[in-house]
Amino acid sequence: MLNPIVYAVPVFLLLMLLEFAWSRRRGETVYRAADTVSSLSLGIISQLVAVFTQLLMLGIYGWLWQHAALLPEWSLGSPWAWAGALLIYDFLYYWKHRLGHEVAVLWAAHVVHHSSEEYNLSTALRQTGSDFLLGWVFYLPMALLGVPPLMFVVVGLIDLLYQFWVHTRLVGRLGWFDRVFVSPSNHRVHHGQNDYCLDRNYGGILILWDRLFGSFVEERDGEPIVYGVRGQLKSWNPWTANLRSYADLWRDARLADNWADRLTIWWRSPNWRPAAALRALPKPRPDLSRFQRYAPALAPGMAAYGLLQLGPLLLLGVYFLAVQPRLAPPLALGAALALLLQLVLLSRLLEGNSRLGEGLRLLALGAWAGAQLWRGQALLGAGPWLWVLCLAAALAGLLWLARPSSAAGQTGRALP
Ligand SMILES: [Zn+2]
Ligand SMILES: [Zn+2]
Repeated sequence: MLNPIVYAVPVFLLLMLLEFAWSRRRGETVYRAADTVSSLSLGIISQLVAVFTQLLMLGIYGWLWQHAALLPEWSLGSPWAWAGALLIYDFLYYWKHRLGHEVAVLWAAHVVHHSSEEYNLSTALRQTGSDFLLGWVFYLPMALLGVPPLMFVVVGLIDLLYQFWVHTRLVGRLGWFDRVFVSPSNHRVHHGQNDYCLDRNYGGILILWDRLFGSFVEERDGEPIVYGVRGQLKSWNPWTANLRSYADLWRDARLADNWADRLTIWWRSPNWRPAAALRALPKPRPDLSRFQRYAPALAPGMAAYGLLQLGPLLLLGVYFLAVQPRLAPPLALGAALALLLQLVLLSRLLEGNSRLGEGLRLLALGAWAGAQLWRGQALLGAGPWLWVLCLAAALAGLLWLARPSSAAGQTGRALP
């Protein structure tokens, strides 16, 4: 079966374009090119990781369902079974998400979704690459209740896809809807770093869970939401976004002066730090009134360049998801790593770093696409258009980077 995300991507892109056009009409800026490149890169990487980890997670779920289910199998033909499974999934999602904010090692995975300082539909695709470590454990009760793996996968997908549309600033309050379902208004609060927003509105589809368990708060008029996390990421690099919080935890564990702190830091609140780490490396509370979004200075046109170069990489990612079941594991792993490396190099260019890495990336991409065309694309069976596009992007990119005016503009202006 074709990965359903392959079908969803064109819809995501279309809705993002519509959101962008609508925001321009209203005279608002809700997208920044480099932030969008970063969010979409993280989405692609999260899907690449899932290709290699999901089967194992599903295997464990399936084994448990087969050998330890307490109830008889749920009928795939019953709408009530589907509705019940979705309700249970949404309930478990609430707790997974809530603990994702309240337990340090789970926050280290989930923080990726919150590290954008913008709030738009691309933020929805900004997903973690390390959910496979612990995230799947939360849904095992469904296997014990007898929910078949297929039903589990489908309701999980429905819950995930539902959350896409709520990541927008353009839809205002929706009255009763905001108090029953997760909505743009109440999920904006979830992404805020204002005091009143912290650790609120965890729901996936139903916000009723938050009202039931005391974590609901309504969006406040007259108090603009500052999006992002306390302790800014200050990077476009998807590798950094995925690993920074684990590295911080590891550093604090090493700074701790006793084993109790070293061992418990992982399971405590993300705000807790060992006394010795606080002394060695104090972190003052950030002043939100002086908050500045991350925006490294870039040469004119560079942010748009990043967005245009992301296009072929996004297509390669979708193509990979489509053909991956037919690839030998070493080839699949090599292709995924090559894509990951390209996304990292592109992000480094957008941080104002050396163009050498980007130049080498373009050379490698162009050479590979050229080789595919030369061999008649026998290797992976795509139409030649994909390789023509990659080759054209590589050549255009090399010409653009090498143009005489580009070095002069290196010290240029901040992003718009
Ligand atoms: Zn969250
Ligand atoms: Zn979100």
